[in-house]
Amino acid sequence: MSADSAVDVVIIGGGPAGLTLAHELATTHDLSVVVYDREQQAGGIPRHSKHLGYGVRDLHLIFSGPAYAERLVNRAVKAGVVVHTGSSVTQVTSVEGTHEIRGVDGNGTFHMTATAVVLATGVRERPRTARVIPGSRVQGVYTTGELQQSVFIHHQSIGQRAVVLGAEHVSYSAVMTLAHAGVKTAALITPWRKHQTWRIAHLFARLRYRFTVKTNAYITDIIGSDRVTAVEVTYRNGQKELVACDVVVCSGDWIADHELAMRMGVEMSKESTGPAVDTAARTSRAGVFAIGNLVHPAIPADAVALNARAIADGVAHYVGYGKWGTGIDVAVSDPFSYVWPQRVVPNEMPANNRFILWAQDFARASQVVVRQGDRELARATVKPDGVIPARHLWIDGTWVTQVDPAGPRITISLLPSY
Ligand SMILES: Cc1cc2nc3c(=O)[nH]c(=O)nc-3n(C[C@H](O)[C@H](O)[C@H](O)COP(=O)(O)OP(=O)(O)OC[C@H]3O[C@@H](n4cnc5c(N)ncnc54)[C@H](O)[C@@H]3O)c2cc1C
Repeated sequence: MSADSAVDVVIIGGGPAGLTLAHELATTHDLSVVVYDREQQAGGIPRHSKHLGYGVRDLHLIFSGPAYAERLVNRAVKAGVVVHTGSSVTQVTSVEGTHEIRGVDGNGTFHMTATAVVLATGVRERPRTARVIPGSRVQGVYTTGELQQSVFIHHQSIGQRAVVLGAEHVSYSAVMTLAHAGVKTAALITPWRKHQTWRIAHLFARLRYRFTVKTNAYITDIIGSDRVTAVEVTYRNGQKELVACDVVVCSGDWIADHELAMRMGVEMSKESTGPAVDTAARTSRAGVFAIGNLVHPAIPADAVALNARAIADGVAHYVGYGKWGTGIDVAVSDPFSYVWPQRVVPNEMPANNRFILWAQDFARASQVVVRQGDRELARATVKPDGVIPARHLWIDGTWVTQVDPAGPRITISLLPSY
């Protein structure tokens, strides 16, 4: 594509969110769409997540990660979407309703203009340095994403015995990847009082892979000269133990891939670490939308895809009419840490009629209450597992029809359970 080309929509990030939205915009709305992805192959995280389990809710089939990624790319390209790989977008500027997208690819720099821009740059796990884990700077320390790339893309030898920091869904995915690479997982280490995955997944993994879960525990030292040889684990009660290992995987603890959004000056949600968005995925900047795990870390790929598909009408409407709404803020209180979306446009349903909540602590099964000022808008019962940190919770969003456009902000809280 030559410099100075113009299209209806540019999507930055060719993962499940970006590719699904691109396909929907090209097929249902007949818009011209360009997707940029900085990797040599589009498809996002699923490209290197080789286990089965992708695509159930969006494509109604069970795929491995790479097969799912390939299907999404092929489907978008067949629909007329132009997918540029090896192309990193470095800046988006906006002048009078037109956005200029600039970046770097194998040929140097590129430049494109678009009526609407969609940020779909995803999420990543905080590496060891960002978690401030003390100890030697040694080889053998990965995030789950890095581990999966090393195993499934670069076919590297990983080691023999691992500890995984974290006990949430993705930590169990790390255990499977380690097993695939011939590495025994010795332990999952979590600061929480119990694991955060489904009970059945936990039981199955414990039986199959024979690891222990060390709860109320922290890694307080990574020991080794060139390569990790052990970690020091410190429990909340002060007790310490050494666990021998030559691999450490830092799993979960997500941070949005938000550098581009920040550089653009889009208003951010401090809690989610991604752009703050309203019910139609609009950011604070007219014509710029944000979707996928960039704004709701980190939910399954098929749910991401469905949420992305659901905002296509809003993007197409903006391209056609240029209208930009302003919403009413939604705030949460303990144990919730944040909600997606963070703003409500009255009578405009969020994607798939749902709000997503994240919590910073466990809480027993109870009821979630939505209020606008003193007025109660809705109540939802939390599932039997209760509220679990790092595990998202869906609540029905039909209450947006009762929001008073002139009213105060909306609050979401949990009733105490007795
Ligand atoms: C280890 C692991 C295992 C998982 N296992 C499962 C599973 O079994 N089942 C399941 O359903 N889900 C699973 N998930 C979750 C799933 O992968 C995500 O929900 C999904 O990939 C999110 O899609 P996305 O499009 O929002 O982001 P991503 O898939 O992260 O895609 C974002 C894309 O944006 C690109 N990008 C970023 N910045 C730029 C830029 N400046 N310019 C150009 N391109 C850019 C990146 O290269 C990337 O391709 C797993 C996630 C992880 C990390």
